[in-house]
Amino acid sequence: MSEVHDMSGPVICAPLRVEAGALRRGLRGAGASTRGGQPAVAVVRSGYGPARSMQAAARLKRSGADVIAVGGVAGALASELRPGDLVVADKVIGGGREIRCPSAPLLAGELRRVGLRVRVGPIATAERLLDRSEHARLRAAGAIAVDMESAPLLEAADGRPRVAVRAISDTPAHSLFSPRTVVGGLAALRALRQAGPPLASWAAAVAPRKVLMASPRSFCAGVERAIEIVELALERYGAPIYVRKQIVHNTTVVARLEKLGAIFVDELDEVPDGATVVFSAHGISPAVRREAERRGLAAVDATCPLVAKVHAEARRFAADGYVVALIGHAGHEEVEGTMGEAPDATELVESAADVAKLKPGHPGKVAYLMHTTLAVDEARGVVDAMLDRFPEARGPGSDDICYATTNRQNAVRAIAADSDVVLVVGSANSSNSLRLVETAERAGTAAHLVDNAEDIELGWLAGASTVGLTAGASAPPAVVGEIVDALSGLGPIQTDEVVVTTEAVQFGLPKELRRSAPG
Ligand code: SF4
Repeated sequence: MSEVHDMSGPVICAPLRVEAGALRRGLRGAGASTRGGQPAVAVVRSGYGPARSMQAAARLKRSGADVIAVGGVAGALASELRPGDLVVADKVIGGGREIRCPSAPLLAGELRRVGLRVRVGPIATAERLLDRSEHARLRAAGAIAVDMESAPLLEAADGRPRVAVRAISDTPAHSLFSPRTVVGGLAALRALRQAGPPLASWAAAVAPRKVLMASPRSFCAGVERAIEIVELALERYGAPIYVRKQIVHNTTVVARLEKLGAIFVDELDEVPDGATVVFSAHGISPAVRREAERRGLAAVDATCPLVAKVHAEARRFAADGYVVALIGHAGHEEVEGTMGEAPDATELVESAADVAKLKPGHPGKVAYLMHTTLAVDEARGVVDAMLDRFPEARGPGSDDICYATTNRQNAVRAIAADSDVVLVVGSANSSNSLRLVETAERAGTAAHLVDNAEDIELGWLAGASTVGLTAGASAPPAVVGEIVDALSGLGPIQTDEVVVTTEAVQFGLPKELRRSAPG
């Protein structure tokens, strides 16, 4: 008999008593089952199979439940799934309908962080136990797991936030009635128990909210050019194309180009003779260029023209007898490349304190340059220290911190004050993305770097009615879209673009890849 009555608040529907028991134990164990003495999340038994689920769904529709989750066990359709794996539905297919669950990546990330194995994908709801040929049909339709209840229960959500998580008990390798299924069932119930607290976190993050979108954000002209260079090189010369270092510091971009046939290497000695190599947007030192020439490699240079400008300044100052203080962060590829232009004349200055350590031969022959993706506020402090100590110090002809860095920092500053939390899309090794996190924090707002929606911790969103969203210059706009979609699965959202400026910068391609003029 189903336990769905006139529920209010967040409700997790579990078809079987053992499934409901596992989820309740998990919630109790983590102290997540009560809030102010009231159940924070109610786990209700909705009944086994389609008929009972439809009855439960009819009651859910009339109930005051504001959030509906389905938790239980399921059969695997995808061969790589093992007993105890969890499947979080990005959509549930059943009864001729597809029900999307946009917040699936957010729950999946939370489940992974507690150590569970998780796949996000479609779950099919069948109307009866199916044989192998019917499983194959569902697999061909894209489903990775099958149950008999999720579709009607989620349909009852009717616009309310919804999610389904199923723990795999049986796999295509073994029949449902094999003794191994009992072992698989126990693994599934264990995983379901552990899924309780993440489901409670998901329910606690549900709320209507505003999303302030910083603009400009995401790709700059230098990154777009570098990605296009790899794509064109693949098209023109065929795979594989070798790329020295990450073309831009972003895991999503790198993974996509790897799929197209790019091979990323750390150094030229990993590139076979006769191959084509692309140098990344961060630039290279002349020593690397010389080594490629010596090896006879076909090289295409994707160095951003604004990084190349800093290289040219370093060469010019060094040739004029200046000591060049390069303001930047040790170990960054761009800094290594710029220092390599005039290694004997360049000193790295990471902070105002480093300025005191400079020992130029002539105090009147000091110049400073900057890493293009520094925090504008921070760099200003170091430049002030330079000018205090060396009033005649010469700087770059025009700002070294590039337009894209400056604009994205101004934009995140414009949203930070009005946001409860700021999410910055970018990879951990992306300098300009890290500077956006710091800029938001300096404005007094908690900020987090995320590579994708799964990285967002639901605890950051609980109680956050306004979320600021931006992306570093190397982060793809598509990931920003995916995050907005995921947030929309936690309740209605209003997105506001906060535009501080618009950008129209474009850079030309290197000569090797320009189309030859028709002739
Ligand atoms: S962040 Fe600036 S310097 Fe770096 S690639 Fe983009 S435009 Fe070029």
